[in-house]
Amino acid sequence: MSVSVVETKDPRETEALGAELAAGLKDGDVVLVRGELGSGKTTFVRGAARALGVTDPITSPTFSIGHRYRATDTTVSHLDLYRLVDLEHEDPGLLADYLGSGRIAFVEWPQDAAGELSSACLRVTLSHLGGDRRHIEVGDLREDAAEDGRP
Ligand code: ADP
Ligand code: MG
Repeated sequence: MSVSVVETKDPRETEALGAELAAGLKDGDVVLVRGELGSGKTTFVRGAARALGVTDPITSPTFSIGHRYRATDTTVSHLDLYRLVDLEHEDPGLLADYLGSGRIAFVEWPQDAAGELSSACLRVTLSHLGGDRRHIEVGDLREDAAEDGRP
């Protein structure tokens, strides 16, 4: 997997990184967004969603596992699986409305057990560097699939 590392010094830069990566996404893509509370996951997703044409305010899902937003050519799904301890024991259809064709999905706190998330194309990991600085690693999972000989 190729990993690139970026350091941002304010939320705006993290949003800009989201926007930049969004430009390379296509229909059905899933982006995993990991990192501690307050590390900037939702901020990153906000930048990406804006770049895809979402005009509604992007807020953290609180009473459901996700939100769906109308974007220019797609629907942007924003999932937060923090409260799902074990996705394997949930209804298998739980994520279906948020993933797949006609959608581009961003998943905060992706659970390792989630088979539906195994086709993710990017894995973004944020961490605190003190103050407003954040260390952000972007792993391109698409290359792994190519290396495995999978389509
Ligand atoms: P998470 O979804 O990971 O819990 P949020 O994006 O909701 O995090 O919150 C991150 C908070 O940190 C926001 O209040 C944001 O303004 C602030 N912040 C400060 N510096 C940065 C940065 N460089 N990147 C992202 N967020 C930052
Ligand atoms: Mg969040």
